[in-house]
Formats: sequence, structure tokens, C-alpha cells
Amino acid sequence: MVSPRYTVPTAIEPALELVRKYNIPGPRYTSYPTAPQFSAEIDRTALLTEVKRDNADASTPLSLYFHLPFCESLCWYCGCNTVITRRLASAGEYVDLLIKELELTAPLLDPRRPVTQLHFGGGTPTFLPPAEIDRLAHAIHRLFTFSADAEISVEIDPRRLTQEHVAAFRRLGCNRASLGVQDTNPQVQVAIHRWQPLELTTQAIAWLRAAGYQSVSVDLIYGLPLQTTESFAQTLDEVIALNPDRLAVFSYAHVPWIKPAQKIFDDRQQLPTTEVKLAMLNTATQKLVAAGYAQIGMDHFARPEDELAVAFVEGTLHRNFQGYTTRAGASLYGFGMSSISQTDGSFRQNYKDLPEYIDAINAGRLPIERGYLLSEDDRRRRTIVTDIMCARGLDFARLSQQLGLDFAATYATELNGLDDLVADGLVVRSESGIDVTPLGRLFVRIIAMRFDAHLAKQRSGFSKVV
Ligand code: SF4
Repeated sequence: MVSPRYTVPTAIEPALELVRKYNIPGPRYTSYPTAPQFSAEIDRTALLTEVKRDNADASTPLSLYFHLPFCESLCWYCGCNTVITRRLASAGEYVDLLIKELELTAPLLDPRRPVTQLHFGGGTPTFLPPAEIDRLAHAIHRLFTFSADAEISVEIDPRRLTQEHVAAFRRLGCNRASLGVQDTNPQVQVAIHRWQPLELTTQAIAWLRAAGYQSVSVDLIYGLPLQTTESFAQTLDEVIALNPDRLAVFSYAHVPWIKPAQKIFDDRQQLPTTEVKLAMLNTATQKLVAAGYAQIGMDHFARPEDELAVAFVEGTLHRNFQGYTTRAGASLYGFGMSSISQTDGSFRQNYKDLPEYIDAINAGRLPIERGYLLSEDDRRRRTIVTDIMCARGLDFARLSQQLGLDFAATYATELNGLDDLVADGLVVRSESGIDVTPLGRLFVRIIAMRFDAHLAKQRSGFSKVV
């Protein structure tokens, strides 16, 4: 039976007025502070001191991320750091660079530290031919020790997949895959420059299941050009029929000032209104809950027995750069252009441009472009933002104990600043804490923003929350 915590959050009518009121640009809070705070002026020696500090305890687990940026063609909605090319030799050259970066990084880390999570993102990880995946796998396993239950995942583009790719990532240890689908409607696919017949997605899932991948996830996007509530309902029906273990249903992030290819959607006036976007989200939530999925956060859904859903109920959910995760407490080490690394007290981001990344690696330098050192206040607010995003509320007594202060007194200004959200029924505030209401789930980013000490300087760079 579906838990009462998974009730469908909102009727659309009251939400519409609130979306008009609160639909302002805001971060997705995959980290706190968010990436725009990272600075190229950072003291690199201090960053490396943080890495040493992070390495002091050999039991602290590791989470590894590999950014594989190549794509053969650009999807016009894309917000990722990509390199568009059909030059296959790029794959081998890039794997050479990743191996060099691994060899530069590994001596900084205690080889006994267990890797509990590894993710290949992109770009298109399957741009790498299977032989290059094997070569990279060999280097990773030579330098790192994996825990027996490590979660090893790869992002799959069904248009660029062969059974040999599925087998190569499985040999490496992959047990989870997420498939980019976005929308199954042919007109929408043409409008976004991503032609992907449903048969390709169906075949990819069959290959992954046959190869023994334990979990298959599908990514959808609402708010794309030419989408309607009806067309997206059909996309949902077709995807639900594929029986994925998890789904992510993201709001399209329209940021043409950062991603110029997105301007075409404005020129053609094909984007759905905010009202239609909200109706699509409502339809997705209704359909997925009716199909037996648990809603986790605003945009993730999983089978109730899935560890993500279980962690949500048990209050052990966390958030990292890939979204929601069950693996808390691991330090993140990123490899490849634009990848981000995170220890308890720091962030580091590699060069976003491929030539600069190549130059640094070939010079034998860690390719750090920018970074950030967290203050005590940042760490406290990170805990608060994570609780809002993952636990949908703040428990004052628990936070007071965890942070070593009187929470309600220390954050009285922020808590008093929630008056409008309380009045609009998005938050319930009591003596002992605050709870995000089912209606408030839509606006969880808005609630978190009230505790973000950095926002005033940077808000314009983000997409709208719905
Ligand atoms: S395949 Fe993915 S990363 Fe590549 S352009 Fe399309 S959306 Fe972006």
C-alpha cells in the first residue's frame, strides 16, 4: 500500500495563484553554497589542505564522478557542459587525460578508503567505445577499493547505445542506469532536436535488464516546446509501461543567457505557459502515484521498496550534485572537465573548457579552475537547506543539538521571514519546528532560499522554480 506520506500534493487551482506569486529564479540546491559562489581567486594551498584533512580518516567513504562531455549532436534544451563532436578519436584522447588525472589524484587519498558510489555523467558516457570504457575501468579499479555494495551508475543515451556498451559498463561494475528520454512525442522531439523513437528506449531498457542492472531510471522534462498537458500525459503512459524503477521529472530550465541554443524556443514561441507547466507536473504526479511510485522531493519518483523511497521515509535521504541520494557522508572526487569535488569543508571545480583542462593535465597539475572554502555559517546553513530539501521540515530540538546552538533563537529572523509562506499554506510553523505542507512541496526551493545567506548577490543566474 502507498504510504500516506506519498499523497498527491496539490490540486492545481490553488497552486496556480501561488505559482504566479512565487515562480522566481532559484537554485536546485544540489549543494550549499551553490556553484555560483565558487571563485577562481580561491587559495589553492588551502583547498589542498582541506583534501589532506578530508583524508585523515581512512574510513570516510569516497564518491567518484566522471564527466564524459562528448555528444554527437546538441539537444537544444541542454543545460549540461558538453563538447559536440563526431570525432571518435576524442574518446581515446580524453580517457588518456582521465587516467592522468586519476594518477595525479590517487596519491592524495588513502587507498583503504572505500568507494561507495561512482557515477558516469555527461555529455554522453556511451560516446566512449567499449574498449575505452574497459581501459578507464582498469585504471579506476587499479587505484581505488570499492565497497561490496557500491552504487555504480551511468547516464545512458538510448540513441548512442549498443549491447557492447551495456556489457562494458557492466564489466566495470555498473548496477544502475538512468536513461535520457525527456518526451516521447515526435513533434516535441523534432522541436528540441532530439529524435528518439520509443523503440530505442524500450530496447535499451531490455538490454540493461538482461545484463543484470539492478535499477533503471528514466529522466523526463516538462516545459519543453510544443508540449501540452495531453501530449505529456501520453509520454507518461508510455514511460510507465516500460516499468522503470525510478523516474526524474524535471522542470525545463530556460536560461538562454547562459545556453544560447535555447533562444530558438523564444524565437519560435513554442514554450508552454507556466500554467501548462504546472498542469503537466500535476498530471505527472497523479499518474505516477496512481502507478504505485512514491514521490521523493519535488521531482523524483521511485518504487516504494526502492532504497531512495525507504530513505525518504526513514529521514536518511541526502542531496548531491546528481540529485537525491542514499549515500551520505562520502567525499566527492570529480574527474574530467567541469567536474566538481566536495569535501566537508570545500568545493573544487575543474576547468569548464576542454583546452584549459587538457593544458593543466598535460602540465601535471590538478585542473582546478575555481573553488570554495565553507565557513561555519555555511556548514550550519547546509544542514538546514538539506533538511528542507530532503526531510521537508526543520526539527528545532534536533537541529539545536546537532548544531550546538539554540536554533529558534539563532535563526529567528529567517523563521519570522516565513510569514508569507505560512499564510499561503506552504509551511506550518510551531514551537517545535516547521513542516513543508503537501502544497509547499512545489515550492521547497523557495523555502530553502529563505535560509540562503548568499542569494542576494546572484539570483539572476538561476532558472525559475516551476
Ligand atoms: S545528449 Fe544530453 S548532454 Fe548531450 S546535448 Fe543532449 S541533453 Fe545535452
